[in-house]
Amino acid sequence: MTTRTTAPSRPLPDLAALAALATGTGPALEVTSPSDGRPLGVVRQAHEGEVAGAVRAAREAQKGWAARPARERAAVAHRFARLVLDRRDEILDLVQAETGKARIAALEEVLDASRTAAYYGHAAPGLLRARGRLGALPLLTKTTELRHPKGVVGVITPWNYPFTLPASDTVPALLAGNAVLIKPDEKTPFSALLTLALLREAGLPERAAQVVVGPREVTGPAVVDAVDFVMFTGSTATGRKVAARCGERLVGFSAELGGKNPLIVLGDADVPAAAAGAARTCFANAGQLCIGPERIYIHEAVRERFTSLFLDEVSRLQVGPGTSWETQVGSLASPAQVAKVRSHVDDAVAKGARILAGGAARPELGPNFFAPTVLADVPETAVLCREETFGPVVALYPVASEEEAFARANDTGYGLSASLWTAPARGRKLGARIEAGSVNVNEGYAAAWGSHSAGMGGWKESGMGRRHGPEGLLKYTESQTVAVQRVPIAPSGRMSAEQFADLVTAGVRIMNRFF
Ligand code: NAD
Repeated sequence: MTTRTTAPSRPLPDLAALAALATGTGPALEVTSPSDGRPLGVVRQAHEGEVAGAVRAAREAQKGWAARPARERAAVAHRFARLVLDRRDEILDLVQAETGKARIAALEEVLDASRTAAYYGHAAPGLLRARGRLGALPLLTKTTELRHPKGVVGVITPWNYPFTLPASDTVPALLAGNAVLIKPDEKTPFSALLTLALLREAGLPERAAQVVVGPREVTGPAVVDAVDFVMFTGSTATGRKVAARCGERLVGFSAELGGKNPLIVLGDADVPAAAAGAARTCFANAGQLCIGPERIYIHEAVRERFTSLFLDEVSRLQVGPGTSWETQVGSLASPAQVAKVRSHVDDAVAKGARILAGGAARPELGPNFFAPTVLADVPETAVLCREETFGPVVALYPVASEEEAFARANDTGYGLSASLWTAPARGRKLGARIEAGSVNVNEGYAAAWGSHSAGMGGWKESGMGRRHGPEGLLKYTESQTVAVQRVPIAPSGRMSAEQFADLVTAGVRIMNRFF
């Protein structure tokens, strides 16, 4: 396993200017870089009252924003999509500094944010259009379905994709005519502030989107309690708390939560491609990726070959800090992540698991590095057998048949993402057998994630609602049915109630045949 230690080559964006965009006058929050512990800058946190004030200001700004034609709002998204690509290196530098991730992993944030914005820039005006619907009485009832914005949307995001998650959830909420209050994780506020800066540069009115930073147990609930819809991304445990609060307030919410994603290698797979794909995707973003695989089920027929090729690929992964494009695995995001990963590995080993690769921290690379780790013989009692590790750790499990592979892949409370390696001709049919919101055939996660016109989200305990696709925009709207009636739906003239009843029964009989 080689290492790269190229130092950052450029100064970071002006962090003091970004910090000034945060709404809040509370205590300063110091942000440090996890890859070397250097201080990056400070951001003022919002008091609880300031969160409520930000929502009031957002409500005012929302009226003017929603009154603009959908195409005008979409033009802001298109400009943002272009700006993100133009300012790619600046974004990569900041995201890398704030998260410690490898540059190639940070690139996913740039591409995803830009594609999501462009997709919705193209699709939103059509999706939001008033639609004629079949009326109660054909020709006599003119029924239209309209889409109205919810009002102010709270977007709560984690630290693992701190630029694109605020961007890709905020843009569709804005295009639907809402104002947005973003609450990023405390470890990564600057990336969210850069998202805000670029949205404003693209033409977004000042108060239509704001960022509030603050302690998770205070600022998070304050946002949830003040907005009209919550878009939450984070752990399943926090998602439950947010869901309970939204339930009490009867406001809508959408949640993208945790996963324990399977990768299946069947007997007819292209084994070298599967081994390379698995190594690339299990350790992408140092395993801190909600859709990254943590369990690999290998058909007995290809087990030996796959395992040997996979371990070979893992041994060649380039791990380390710095801005080199060649580095594949960066730092974990915090000491807490390292402690969690270590405890999962130690627990599995104590219960009988074997370490085939890695298995330990890499302090010589930086305070929060952990080696890409492959385990075998992980017993059912090990914590990592079922719980999300969210780090560079994957467990291998042999399976004797395809039936067993699908049964074990589905034997989980989660259902976020899956990867299946098989003959392409069988991919769609077999993929549909996996209980997950996204299934990637002959790819780890990028194929489904990058299909921005199709929904993305979790089954079971991995979430509710979808981002991307039409659903990822329409969830931020209230639908309204306006039905204009030409003649009353009642007996007319001297018609008796019974005659009316017979007439409408006959009418419904005819309608049922055609509509
Ligand atoms: P987390 O749930 O601890 O925190 C996520 C966000 O919620 C942070 O901004 C945090 O400050 C905020 N928060 C914490 N408590 C809150 C509360 N009571 N009310 C409102 N907000 C609150 O998640 P994390 O551990 O930081 O992130 C990693 C998790 O996120 C993993 O489980 C990962 O799978 C998941 N994730 C899911 C997706 C997806 O698209 N499904 C994407 C990225 C990450």
